[in-house]
Order: sequence, then C-alpha cells, then structure tokens
Amino acid sequence: SAFALTEPQSGSDVAATATTATRDGTDYVLSGEKTWISNGGIADLYTVFARTGEAPGARGLSAFLLPADTPGLQIAERLETITPHPLARLRFDDLRLPASALIGKPGDGFRIAMSVLDVFRSTVAAAALGFARRALDEALARATSRQLFGAPMADLQMVQGHLADMALDVDAAALLTYRAAWTKDSGAPRVTREAAMAKLFATDRAQSVIDKAVQLHGGDGVRKGSTVESLYREIRALRIYEGASDVQKVVIARATIAATQGRNDR
Ligand SMILES: Cc1cc2nc3c(=O)[nH]c(=O)nc-3n(C[C@H](O)[C@H](O)[C@H](O)COP(=O)(O)OP(=O)(O)OC[C@H]3O[C@@H](n4cnc5c(N)ncnc54)[C@H](O)[C@@H]3O)c2cc1C
Repeated sequence: SAFALTEPQSGSDVAATATTATRDGTDYVLSGEKTWISNGGIADLYTVFARTGEAPGARGLSAFLLPADTPGLQIAERLETITPHPLARLRFDDLRLPASALIGKPGDGFRIAMSVLDVFRSTVAAAALGFARRALDEALARATSRQLFGAPMADLQMVQGHLADMALDVDAAALLTYRAAWTKDSGAPRVTREAAMAKLFATDRAQSVIDKAVQLHGGDGVRKGSTVESLYREIRALRIYEGASDVQKVVIARATIAATQGRNDR
C-alpha cells in the first residue's frame, strides 16, 4: 500500500494541497500530482488526499482509496535518493473514482491523515532506534577489538565518553518510543505529542549515534559498503519524512501549550 499526501508544492504545508477531487454524478474526478510517495509504482492500493472544497485550507481535504490499476493513474517519475527507497511522483489526469472510494466523510481528509501520522511517527522512531542500536553495537565491537597506543581503544576515556553518550541516547530514545507505542496500545484517542517527541528525539539522536560510530571507525567509517557508512546515509531521510524535525517541534510546542491552557482552565 502507499500513502499519498505530499505534492511538489505542499509537503510540510498540507493546507496547500492542490490535487482536486471534483464530484461528477456518482463519481469523483481526480486531477493533480503527488510526489515522494513511498511504494509509488509498486503498491496495489494508494490512499490519496485531495481537495474537495468543503472549507478553505486543510479542512477542505478528503481521503480516497485508489487501486493501482485504475485508468488515469500515471507513475510520472521514479525518484532516486542517497539510499535505496521505492519512491515515485504520481499524476492523476481526470481519473474517475466511484463515490464509494471516499474514506470517512468529505472534509475528513486532514484529520484522517494526521491520525495516521500519529501511528506512523512512532514506527519511524522505532526504525531510527534500530539503526542507532546497530551503530552502537558496531562501535562497541570496534572499540573493544582495535588496539590503539598499546591497549584496546575502549580504554581511552574520550572513546568511553562517546560510548556513554551513545548508550544514553539509545536508551532515552527507546523509552520515548515505547511510551508512544504504549499510549496508543492503551487506547488513548490521540498520541500526537508522544509520537512527535519519540520521532523527533529518536531520529535526531540516531543521527548523532551513527555519526559517532563513523568517527570511532576511523577510515573504515567512510569506506563505501561498510555497515556504519550505509547507516550514515540511511538515517538521514528519517528526519525529513512523516514531518520534518522542525515540524515535530511545532507539534510538540502546540500540544504542550494546549495542555497548559487546559490545566489553567480547570
Ligand atoms: C524517503 C522519503 C519517503 C517519503 N515518503 C512519503 C510518503 O510515503 N507519502 C507522502 O505523502 N510523502 C512522503 N515523503 C515526503 C515527505 O513527507 C516530505 O518530504 C516532508 O513532509 C517535507 O516536505 P517537503 O519535502 O515539501 O519540504 P518542505 O515542506 O519544503 O520543508 C523543507 C524544510 O523546511 C523546514 N520546515 C518546514 N516546515 C517548517 C515549520 N513549520 N517550521 C520550521 N521549519 C519548517 C524543515 O526543515 C523542512 O525539512 C517522503 C519523503 C522522503 C524523503
């Protein structure tokens, strides 16, 4: 499956979505473009967000289920990034969908997209945590096996400092990720704040942990094909997709301010 929200001119700014879905009898007619769509070109089913116009901005969007074999769906471009990831730009040219393809009610699209991201963001945090754990394992193996100045590298206090920072980041990221997952599992209606915190912290810290692992590997750290070199490239996109780190900060700040106002109102 694929989740098609981003457009060439609207990534972080979802309210700028320009793809339209116009009602025509019992159908909707879809026109526009989506880009950076994971699984684009290989998915069987796309969830597409389009403007149906119930209200201006984000409140005028709806979600549609689009089977890949629907006439009018074009895979306009395959996008290549610094690590392998199936990505495509999609085009819809007067593509017809039955009204039954609508998910929820007209105008529900933004709410649906955000509630899906609340779930996805915790999984991005978990992926980042996995990368960071692997980087720490690689760094520990290197530091305990390589001899420097007549002793294992791990005996050097500066190296220990790096290892301590990495272990702390990994455990703190794990705790935030587990809290977000646990909050969702225990039936909370929204986990916006917890998921944004987990995603922001785990992806940012994984970047730092991996960078330290590269450093501790010396020249081997940047050798093409080494594990830490590929982790170094793979982690980068996680700070951009499912909402860039900067956007997570906005989400966390808004949720924190709202919680404070709620307390003050009581
Ligand atoms: C590997 C990969 C997979 C992806 N998969 C999908 C997918 O499956 N489905 C999908 O719909 N999209 C997907 N995307 C798109 C992704 O969600 C967007 O790239 C992302 O939301 C950023 O949007 P943008 O690229 O338009 O950048 P912009 O919105 O132009 O943002 C650029 C930068 O501006 C800054 N910024 C943005 N907003 C703010 C703010 N409010 N305050 C401060 N700074 C800000 C951030 O640093 C941000 O990185 C994917 C992207 C990548 C790289």
